Amino acid sequence: MSENNIKNISSLPTPCYVIDEKALIGNLEKLRYVEQKTGCHVLLAQKAFSAYHVYPLISEYISGTTSSGIFEARLAHEEMGNKQIHVYAPAFKDDDMDELLKICGHIVFNSFSQWKHFRKKALAHKNVEFGLRVNPEYSEIETDIYNPCFTNSRLGITLENFEENELEGISGLHFHTMCEQNSDTLERTLKAVEEKFGKYLYNMKWLNFGGGHHITRPDYDIEKLISCINYMQEKYDLDIYIEPGEAVALNAGYLAASVLDIIKNNMNIAILDTSAACHMPDVLEMPYRPFIIGSDKPDILPYTYRLGAPTCLAGDIIGDYSFPAPLNIGDKLIFTDMAIYSMVKNNTFNGMPLPDIYLLKTDGTTKLLKKFGYSDFKCRL
Ligand SMILES: *Cc1c(COP(=O)(O)O)cnc(C)c1O
Repeated sequence: MSENNIKNISSLPTPCYVIDEKALIGNLEKLRYVEQKTGCHVLLAQKAFSAYHVYPLISEYISGTTSSGIFEARLAHEEMGNKQIHVYAPAFKDDDMDELLKICGHIVFNSFSQWKHFRKKALAHKNVEFGLRVNPEYSEIETDIYNPCFTNSRLGITLENFEENELEGISGLHFHTMCEQNSDTLERTLKAVEEKFGKYLYNMKWLNFGGGHHITRPDYDIEKLISCINYMQEKYDLDIYIEPGEAVALNAGYLAASVLDIIKNNMNIAILDTSAACHMPDVLEMPYRPFIIGSDKPDILPYTYRLGAPTCLAGDIIGDYSFPAPLNIGDKLIFTDMAIYSMVKNNTFNGMPLPDIYLLKTDGTTKLLKKFGYSDFKCRL
């Protein structure tokens, strides 16, 4: 990031998230390239990133959104209205189906029992298409909590449970078995999908490849993705959808924090005004180590600190980092890649304030998108 951008972000009140418009556009250009090269449709998986203030920008580049339920679908309808809205959930509630049928163009069911339960009502809506999520029982994800094909998974229909006589009214299949992976994984996954469900694909109108495609990562092989899409399109005469979440806003946001205190217990410890548990929960859940601009791994640069939150949770530690100079109270730290799975997952545990949300515009200036305060804590309790 440029010195000027670092300066601008460092002048904002902390903690705050900053969405990097230029980086977001860079990602969207790559996704649009995939659409243009193949005719496929790219959908933002809102689960990863729902900062609707930039939905108008996103809608200039890709075909629409996908949702995990009524609230995300409604958000897409309100904020990205004239684009495609897809929805999938492990189970839908009766109360939500009427509205979903009004606002979604594609509804994907997780089981034949859900499909049969809603089928009559569904088929009265001629302009909505219905699909089923399948579980090809093939995944290269090593972290179980992110593996939809893990033993006894509830996500998707296995071949053994596929009721081929109940397909009338179903126009597509959906699979989602990847996480932060490259297109070689997709290629191998498609083999498994074809082996198990290929014979049904000839009668389908579309196939949704799910998310987990790390398309905007520098080493991602986009040309291989394109050939995978073309291959499936041509072999089965299908429309292809992909629904990346991460890839849309990968490396397109920051979390800025301030140093509140520096203490010692065998090592130097800095208390920040941000919390792993509240503001970047994947750091603890995944777990992973976020990058901080100007820092390195512990003991690489001369001054090493453990960075901790101002909550009372003992394990609310972001990690150990080294810096070229001693940290001082009031210093600003900028965590990178904080657009995805951050704002959508944050919480006010322990009375922590939610970080405000800013946009870093392409001209380098910042704009406040959303301010939070005490009422956002109180109103949820
Ligand atoms: C989470 C999810 C996505 C998006 O996954 P990313 O890893 O963020 O790309 C897409 N589709 C479904 C069904 C999901 O559950």
